[in-house]
Amino acid sequence: MDLSFSAAEEAFRAELRTWLAANLPPPAEPATLAAEVAFLRAWQRKLHDGRWVGIHWPREYGGRGATLMEQVIFADELAKRRLPGGANVLGILLVGPTLMHWGTEAQKNRFLPKILSADEIWCQGYSEPGAGSDLASLQTRAIEQGDVFVVNGQKVWTSGAHRADWCILLARTDPNAPKHQGISYLLVDMKTPGITVRPLVQMTGGAGFNEMFFEDVPVPRENIVGERNRGWEVAITTLMFERAGLGTDFRFEGPLESLAAAARHVQRDGRPAIEAPGNRQQLAKFTIEATALRYSGYRQLTRRLRGQPPGPEGSMAKLVGSELNLRIAQYAVALLGPHAQIDTNEAGEAPGHWLARELMARAHTIAGGTSEIQRNIVAERVLGLPR
Ligand SMILES: Cc1cc2nc3c(=O)[nH]c(=O)nc-3n(C[C@H](O)[C@H](O)[C@H](O)COP(=O)(O)OP(=O)(O)OC[C@H]3O[C@@H](n4cnc5c(N)ncnc54)[C@H](O)[C@@H]3O)c2cc1C
Repeated sequence: MDLSFSAAEEAFRAELRTWLAANLPPPAEPATLAAEVAFLRAWQRKLHDGRWVGIHWPREYGGRGATLMEQVIFADELAKRRLPGGANVLGILLVGPTLMHWGTEAQKNRFLPKILSADEIWCQGYSEPGAGSDLASLQTRAIEQGDVFVVNGQKVWTSGAHRADWCILLARTDPNAPKHQGISYLLVDMKTPGITVRPLVQMTGGAGFNEMFFEDVPVPRENIVGERNRGWEVAITTLMFERAGLGTDFRFEGPLESLAAAARHVQRDGRPAIEAPGNRQQLAKFTIEATALRYSGYRQLTRRLRGQPPGPEGSMAKLVGSELNLRIAQYAVALLGPHAQIDTNEAGEAPGHWLARELMARAHTIAGGTSEIQRNIVAERVLGLPR
């Protein structure tokens, strides 16, 4: 792998840094969900004005046609400043690219600009109570009646549905076909009568995802993506974009710095915890694992820069990254004891949020394909073990 940057890439980084220096949002910890959504929308609009949203999208659709290395630089510069990508991450990473591949011209013209501008926020209606890892078992029905599909059924774990304007929905249009062959991929306006969204409160106290109920919800026929009953292919395209972009990008520099700072702050046996050899060794081990993961990520990047498709390294990165993230959070909570409950970053306090991070870390080992499913993929496709 080649770890150096070209002159063009350095110029891209310089342009981005100049723009960020002039447009940095004030540090914000919005108190309510509505305030958080407003903050993220405003930030995405600002990014959009600077043409920094969906930079990997082709220019004809409003992107910059950014190379993979430019995307890496972009993610890096945002992460260093702890900046989010905007309000519409699923729209930018999943829905837009799927529509560019499968959508009609009318669908592309209608939906793509509003994804970039954050005027329409998207959610992903795939999972159901009886269909998660085995997604093709989904039972939500869409029956064709005249100019519409009439949708009935239930989805669950739908992230952001409570603030979404549109949803990519998988529904069964032929209940008699083999399970992968009777599914269609629909674009659903969340304001359509018959949709009920119920937030699910998590153990963090937050409510980031939801149950969604569909009762006789009419979806115009022109909102189908790809062919009727061939939605599985479209759904897989979205999942490929998901695996390439989400869940595999754990960054550990910040958490490990924060953990080291916490270990310097709390006292054990009258001394700062960081002075105990066991704690120092554990911090070093986490740092080594995080560095190994970063270099594996570069290997994946090198493959893709050479024009090869994403390999099973994506599953390894998701598995190792999400499990390491969980172990770091668990260790921090054990190390800090009661301090872990302090939820601030105020001067003089141990750096906060560790309890919430531990509670949330488990979710990352489930979302986007559980650790067991990733292990199956690694076993079958990397190690060649029998099914
Ligand atoms: C934070 C978060 C956000 C999410 N956001 C969304 C969203 O926006 N939209 C959406 O549609 N879904 C979303 N999901 C749902 C997610 O995709 C599913 O939870 C996930 O695919 C697992 O499905 P399940 O929960 O039904 O568990 P199940 O598939 O029922 O699995 C239960 C257990 O069995 C294990 N298991 C299942 N099959 C196998 C197998 N073949 N081999 C070995 N072990 C197996 C699993 O690993 C797991 O431990 C989200 C989930 C989380 C946690």
